Amino acid sequence: MQTNLADFIKHTPEGQEAAGILGKCVHCGFCTATCPTYQLLGDELDGPRGRIYLIKQVLEGVRPTEKTQLHLDRCLTCRNCETTCPSGVQYGRLVDIGRKVVDEQVPRPFGARVVRQALKAGLTSPLFGPAMKLGQLARPLLPGSLKSKVPAPQRAGDTPSRSHPRRMLMLAGCVQPAMLPNINTATARVFDALGIELVVPAAAGCCGAIRYHLNDHDGGLADARANIDAWWPHIESGCEAIVMNASGCGAQVREYGHMLRHDPAYAAKAQRVSDLTKDVAEVLPSMAEAIKAKLVHQPSPAPDSGARGQAPAGAGGAQHRVRADSAPRVVFHSPCTLQHGQQIRGEVESLLTALGAEVSPVGESHFCCGSAGTYSVLQPDLAYKLRDRRLGHLEAPAPEVILSANVGCITHLQSGTERPVRHWIEWLDARLSGSVTQ
Ligand code: SF4
Ligand code: SF4
Repeated sequence: MQTNLADFIKHTPEGQEAAGILGKCVHCGFCTATCPTYQLLGDELDGPRGRIYLIKQVLEGVRPTEKTQLHLDRCLTCRNCETTCPSGVQYGRLVDIGRKVVDEQVPRPFGARVVRQALKAGLTSPLFGPAMKLGQLARPLLPGSLKSKVPAPQRAGDTPSRSHPRRMLMLAGCVQPAMLPNINTATARVFDALGIELVVPAAAGCCGAIRYHLNDHDGGLADARANIDAWWPHIESGCEAIVMNASGCGAQVREYGHMLRHDPAYAAKAQRVSDLTKDVAEVLPSMAEAIKAKLVHQPSPAPDSGARGQAPAGAGGAQHRVRADSAPRVVFHSPCTLQHGQQIRGEVESLLTALGAEVSPVGESHFCCGSAGTYSVLQPDLAYKLRDRRLGHLEAPAPEVILSANVGCITHLQSGTERPVRHWIEWLDARLSGSVTQ
């Protein structure tokens, strides 16, 4: 696609990058068929090819309107279109550039600006944890729309205290420790059982995705630099990898090298951090035999209590126990940030199967659940339609538990079903400790 950039962006790194991406698009429209928002709305401008046209027009100097902004806002940034595209168009990077340019030319109403500012500041603030606790106390009294954003309190279980010669870094994340604290402790317990210590520097915080995808690129870059500074001494002292158990964070940290490529002080470090970043789904399959051996040698579990939907505790507290040698029926919802953003597909399902689970196939497995970072707050109608459509497929095989790999997807899906939705690492932790969380 030939692009004649307008003067305001022609000589900027963003302009050059956008022109390179646009140049690869051949208008074939294959991507449109797999776009969730096009499937729901049926408007070419709510699909990737239409949005690419809109962005091209704006970068060529056409004044964007509120309608342009709305079509870009409705995009989930799920990057399903990137997986489909035969020409390698990096739509996610293009839409980040396009949204920022449009926002600079189309001021949002005061109320919308306040909401976006509150999301950027609130979700990444140290006060988010105490606020979540208050919300959980008041949860029974909250209206349904708010209640769906506040998960029931969850016990985190114990954090291992043993040291091991093998060490990896782990990103705790900004909202995850407050919303679903068992995910991080379960990850630490699984790695501890495999002889790996997970190091979590206190100075590391939000991966930057929240600010970056709300068009605060400077704020997102500041988050990235802070994490690099927090991790670097541990990388130099021999940490093997940076482990991610939230695929949204992993997809973002893998972009650090690209995001900071023009920063002479950080470019090399950022690329090293991106290269070291691994989702748990990439690290654990190579240790499947060791995990299996631990499952075989665990003590015989207590009979199934029949409880359902209770907070998981893994090795750290009261548990729902079923026979570890049974074949629990599970489904796996692969987050877009895992399967499209990081192109990691099939690893979790294969590992769960190897560990004795019956992993049922699900329809439209490439589809977004509608969570998409802050999307479920900013575009609730579309988000809940997508959630219910996704749950329809996930619940069809009547699984005992729905497993996933990202805190946002888990919370969003759980808001639409009584069936338990958990991170797959919690399920594995519970298996290793002789119980299965459902
Ligand atoms: S990122 Fe997702 S929602 Fe956005 S255009 Fe691509 S497929 Fe559609
Ligand atoms: S599939 Fe790729 S090349 Fe075809 S229209 Fe979509 S982005 Fe362009």
